[in-house]
Amino acid sequence: MRRLTIFVLLAVVSGVAFAQDLVIENARIVDGNGGVIDNGSVVVSDGRIVSVSAGSAAAEGERIDAEGRTVMPAFTDAHRHVIQGDPDQWLSEQAEENMRAWLEAGFTTILSAGDPAEHILELRRRLAEGEIQGPRLIAAGRAPLAASPGGFVPGVDPARIDQSRGPNRVAETADAIPHEQTRATIQALADAGFDAVKTVIVVTSDGPETETLAVVAEEARRHGMDSITHAVTVVDTMAAVEARTDILVHTPHIGHLTEEQVSTIVDSGIPMTSTLGIFVPTFDVDNTMIRERTGHDNVARFRDLDPFPYDTLSSAGQGPVNARLLWEGGMVYGYGTDVRFLPDDSLAHELRPLRLVFSHADIVQILTKNAAVTAGLGDETGTLEPGKRADIVVVDGDPLTDINAVHDVVLVVKDGEVVVDNRN
Ligand SMILES: [Zn+2]
Repeated sequence: MRRLTIFVLLAVVSGVAFAQDLVIENARIVDGNGGVIDNGSVVVSDGRIVSVSAGSAAAEGERIDAEGRTVMPAFTDAHRHVIQGDPDQWLSEQAEENMRAWLEAGFTTILSAGDPAEHILELRRRLAEGEIQGPRLIAAGRAPLAASPGGFVPGVDPARIDQSRGPNRVAETADAIPHEQTRATIQALADAGFDAVKTVIVVTSDGPETETLAVVAEEARRHGMDSITHAVTVVDTMAAVEARTDILVHTPHIGHLTEEQVSTIVDSGIPMTSTLGIFVPTFDVDNTMIRERTGHDNVARFRDLDPFPYDTLSSAGQGPVNARLLWEGGMVYGYGTDVRFLPDDSLAHELRPLRLVFSHADIVQILTKNAAVTAGLGDETGTLEPGKRADIVVVDGDPLTDINAVHDVVLVVKDGEVVVDNRN
């Protein structure tokens, strides 16, 4: 993929030393493909995994004793909003600490599904060139699917106001954007260096959204970018599938999927990110985040800190049910949070609705292998297998029987470099 080429080139040009030869041994290996090795070794060279095997491995490199801990693929958040508040200020004052928090939480890849364009590309540059340490950042630029009065109003949080839901849903047919203009938008995003194109689809009656998304998807593909689509109703999800977008970045939570719709979505091969937590109020591990971290009183609040109830709660539970239907149909379903708060807190928050319908072992796959696919990097990360990037976490406990073990990150390797080491 283009972005990886750029990443490697930049790393070489700027002389970033990120590759170490490593042997992680005495490890309980959870490979992300469903395989478990009770006592084994992972060998890493030049930033890539060389071997994953039982017992010890005779290989050169720094030896890391996992002391029987679980060694697994590093995590990916495939739907994220990164920058908070004033973007200049965030970049200069918070970026470094925030990016560091991702590594500490075990995440080596995040996908920005919408941030100030200049700033997110600058953040990606700083990360790629090693000016600051953090996860691999995949940046999506936005393309509209309709001219005013389209279903999506820029600047209004679509999850909060929920323009997909009646009575907020736009009744009148939206005006079309000429295809040449859409192609020019995609060209501009490619020229700017974006990795992906983000669209929000809310179809209007006989509106142009599906056709425009088809143009976006085709044009993005031509430029080596993924098209990623926000659809939160069943109706809009089916339209996005019809338009052949590459990745669905939400689970539909408005409407119940029929058996036939499940088959259509699964057969399309389009993967989906979970984001189940954004449609319910937000808490951290101890349900105290709101009070302790913001000074607000401890009432349940939405991700924007406004209190509930509000209208999207009327479908609470629909998203997890649809998620399970798609999972059983065979969909690639990956982890994504769609929030801005700290990675460990957002992990705790997203695990709750995931746990309604998924087993611990399912969630390991959702957080690793599948999230890599939904971030567009399935060939490169997400599992421990020879040839893949050496993105590895070591955790205390067994996430296959208690997913909360993923909070107990002891060591993190990204591209073969030990970036977090909390042993002893
Ligand atoms: Zn989002």
